[in-house]
Amino acid sequence: MPEIIEPFRIKAVEPIRSTTTDERCQILADAHYNPFLIHADDVLIDLLTDSGTSAMSAAQWAAVMVGDESYAGSRSFYRFQEKVQEIFGFNFVIPTHQGRAAEKLLATLLGGPGHKIPNNNHFDTTRANIEYSGAEAIDLVCSEAKDLGSDYPFKGNIDIPRLREFLAANRGDVPFGMVTITNNAGGGQPVSMANLREISATYREFGVPFIIDSCRFAENAWFIKQREPGYGHKSPKEIAQEIFSLADGATMSLKKDGFGNIGGFLALNEEKLAEQCRNLLILTEGFPTYGGMAGRDMEALAVGLEETLQEDYLRYRVRTVEYVVERLNKLGVQTVRPAGGHAVYVDARSFYPQLPQSAFPAQVLVCELYRHGGIRGVEIGSAMFGRSVDGVEIPADKELVRLAMPRRVYTQAHMNYMIEVFEVLLKEREQVSGLKILKQAPILRHFTAWFEPLN
Ligand SMILES: *Cc1c(COP(=O)(O)O)cnc(C)c1O
Repeated sequence: MPEIIEPFRIKAVEPIRSTTTDERCQILADAHYNPFLIHADDVLIDLLTDSGTSAMSAAQWAAVMVGDESYAGSRSFYRFQEKVQEIFGFNFVIPTHQGRAAEKLLATLLGGPGHKIPNNNHFDTTRANIEYSGAEAIDLVCSEAKDLGSDYPFKGNIDIPRLREFLAANRGDVPFGMVTITNNAGGGQPVSMANLREISATYREFGVPFIIDSCRFAENAWFIKQREPGYGHKSPKEIAQEIFSLADGATMSLKKDGFGNIGGFLALNEEKLAEQCRNLLILTEGFPTYGGMAGRDMEALAVGLEETLQEDYLRYRVRTVEYVVERLNKLGVQTVRPAGGHAVYVDARSFYPQLPQSAFPAQVLVCELYRHGGIRGVEIGSAMFGRSVDGVEIPADKELVRLAMPRRVYTQAHMNYMIEVFEVLLKEREQVSGLKILKQAPILRHFTAWFEPLN
């Protein structure tokens, strides 16, 4: 088979800036060893997130110009709503400025003390919104997900017997149940259609509304097409439609599979809840026909939602991640396997076996990638998911570094450069020392925490 190439040509370019290793050492110290605090201009290849960093297409930029900025009843809202309903199928579409605003609406109206909300793995903002409301966020991902090296094709699946047990033990306390496709906090791994069907049936059996955190629904649909028997002949859109037909609603960050720089929505079937959400939306986001978006955003996103389901794009998208995983594994760098949809997840504990979890090995790897290559990744380990309880650190169960791929932004040469940087880090792996936290916020601490080298 011929090489899978980037299925686009480049029409507008944006220069990226090289810095020296010495400069980057200083920048890192000034940023308190937290790459979230580095100026983006000082980053060469920015893999901090695939959120809001996608390149829009010529067709999306053209759509921007026809945006209708009317406060109420904007034409662009109706176009947006129509596209969302075509793919997602829900009765009510509530536009928000990004995914967490949709989560906030649900958590505010349905969360609260005593309530528990299950998921495969809650993403950090989902968990934070639920916990902030006083409710509990419960992770019930399948056991295969815990084995980083297992090649199980649907490691985002929920453990159905555990879900059933959980719902039986917590009758009346579960205001809604979720699943995240693909499972971002669990390696960008997909959920199978068979599992989605079982999740839906189990929630229904217990009378629990089923909400899909659908940020990467197109990538999940592509994995189902590739890996699940009976779906090879279906289009990604048909698969997506089948997924959402199983649920009662969805939260969406259009900064992911919507090809947007900003945007999101909450979609629901239930009229009363939709009405309550809209009332709260007016208070926090804006009028129900724009939420937190401009008319031009909604136009560009309606086009993006169509482009994200194109097969050429999805084939290239998923292959990019797979290619980096293959090359890194060949070097002996352990990653979450199989390759996920939007990011490479490097196992920092096996990369720096000499560092205990209390020394934040994944944060160290993030810093070293920046120091040696100007590459910015993100820690998904004890800085993000660990906790400080009375000054004692409770570690996370994994120490991963996520290298998220902005959509349609970097080329294969950028990826090859990154692989060379890993070769350098491997040679110097014994020389590094750990980090400790100097200052932290009570929630979502990883965004702003200050670190300091241990020696
Ligand atoms: C990004 C993300 C969110 C939150 O969306 P924002 O647009 O960043 O607010 C929620 N869930 C998952 C799985 C995500 O990846």
